[in-house]
Amino acid sequence: MSRPTALVLGAGIMGLSAAWGLHRAGFAVRVLDQAPPPNPRGSSVDDHRLIRHAYGAQAGYMRMVDDAYAAWDLLWRDLGEALHVPTGMLALDEARGAWLPASRAALAADGRPHEDLTGAQVAARFPLLDGEGLRDALWMPTGGVLLAGRIVAALARHLAAQGVAIEVARAFEVDAARGALRLADGRTEAADLLVVAAGPWAPRLIPALAARVTPSRQIIVRLMPEDAEAWARMPMLLDLAAEGGFYMVPPVAGTPLKIGDHSFSLEGDPEADPRVASEAEVERMLALARRRLRGLDRMRLLGGAVCFYDVEPDERFVLERLSPRAFVMSGFSGHGFKFGALLGLAVAGAARDAELDASLPLWAAGDIATPPGLLPTVPA
Ligand SMILES: Cc1cc2nc3c(=O)[nH]c(=O)nc-3n(C[C@H](O)[C@H](O)[C@H](O)COP(=O)(O)OP(=O)(O)OC[C@H]3O[C@@H](n4cnc5c(N)ncnc54)[C@H](O)[C@@H]3O)c2cc1C
Repeated sequence: MSRPTALVLGAGIMGLSAAWGLHRAGFAVRVLDQAPPPNPRGSSVDDHRLIRHAYGAQAGYMRMVDDAYAAWDLLWRDLGEALHVPTGMLALDEARGAWLPASRAALAADGRPHEDLTGAQVAARFPLLDGEGLRDALWMPTGGVLLAGRIVAALARHLAAQGVAIEVARAFEVDAARGALRLADGRTEAADLLVVAAGPWAPRLIPALAARVTPSRQIIVRLMPEDAEAWARMPMLLDLAAEGGFYMVPPVAGTPLKIGDHSFSLEGDPEADPRVASEAEVERMLALARRRLRGLDRMRLLGGAVCFYDVEPDERFVLERLSPRAFVMSGFSGHGFKFGALLGLAVAGAARDAELDASLPLWAAGDIATPPGLLPTVPA
């Protein structure tokens, strides 16, 4: 019997992970992207992404992080290398906002190890940080850095070695009912199953999505500290200041230190906008981080860049069937990468079992526990 066929649009972490999951589930898979992976204009670009259990009141995503780690472990097995650096997580707040207490309550309810710290304890334990003005702090032993660029490149190589074709082509229309894509070069490509994982471009291709998902231009700044080894031993950091906080990725595994902001711009055009940040945008980011990261101005500034999120108003992922022959993966709202491998396996599970159609969107939105049969059983 011939294998069912799948066509995946998008070779970012979501499309490649879906291709991986579908290939493992027995599909003959092809992937199309307008650029060879990793596309420097895609959302999955850059050295790293953060993974952490603390998730505010979104306890569903907190629990899903356990499944995410298991899915990454399965991927590391297939790739033959683990592209993750555990660092632990530190979250700081100057404003006594609701996110840290909600995270703490959810973590405590599940009995997950975490520790509350005062500003003085933060400064004593992490001398590279300034504890001034801190009103709340939480440390967790879990959490770390996924080496995003290397993951995307290694996964693309792995898929190619497994016979999954990754082709450069630009789609201009999705025909979900037929599981088909109309391409800019005049061709139409179709398969038994189509997965649209087009990142911030998805609302252009699926007009119904435009009411739910907004591309959002975001700034990141890369720096190289003199004492990079000391910084590399720091936990990943979330700093939640009242006037807009930032996150810091430590310079692990030879990567730069990175800072980015938490707030969504909800503007910009992923097609037209260059991926270069202005001097003013870089300075705004540095100003957010200067009061917390000691010696920031002695770090070598490597530059700023622009990257796009695809934002759903409640930051709930959109993973659902568009038709009996098509799925969409969207709405990752700046927190999707950590779930990439997991969501790829989940699409493959749902593709095999239409009974899961109703529960897949609710699970992906963080509302319900993992439905039985959605994820593969992995031998120890
Ligand atoms: C700066 C930044 C920091 C982030 N930090 C974190 C983090 O710390 N932790 C976390 O979990 N998540 C984080 N995220 C979010 C995460 O990176 C994204 O959710 C994830 O990478 C989305 O992947 P994707 O495959 O959906 O999109 P993309 O990587 O954008 O892939 C979509 C692909 O579709 C292709 N495509 C689109 N339209 C077409 C077309 N018409 N024809 C052909 N090809 C097309 C594009 O070329 C692109 O390669 C961050 C995102 C950014 C931008």
